[in-house]
Amino acid sequence: MRIDFKKIGSKKRSFSVEKEGVVFSGEYKRENELVDIRGRLEKGLSVECARCGREFMIKLDEKIHLKANDGIFRGSIDGFDVVEFFEGFVDFEELLGGEIESIRLDYHLCPECTDGEEFSYEI
Ligand SMILES: [Zn+2]
Repeated sequence: MRIDFKKIGSKKRSFSVEKEGVVFSGEYKRENELVDIRGRLEKGLSVECARCGREFMIKLDEKIHLKANDGIFRGSIDGFDVVEFFEGFVDFEELLGGEIESIRLDYHLCPECTDGEEFSYEI
């Protein structure tokens, strides 16, 4: 799902994309020169256990709030990552792909490796 930046107005529109079993859906609208995107990641994703290397499914239910810019963004906004697109479109699959990649890079332990692990905090 690619949306032309020029066609995005200040009225909210909805989007929904799916990749590798993960659903990313929500709303987007123009906010000054940026596009404000609020959505939710849902369903499940297969990740690799950091200890035994086994693939297992994790459940996802995560709020996503980000901003997109048509080209290089030179300003800064507190607390927000501004995603830059260079072809004149907001590409929701690409956004979802980036989120999936960053979730996969997190530290995950499968249920078998989790035993006893939950309570060993480092101080
Ligand atoms: Zn494991």
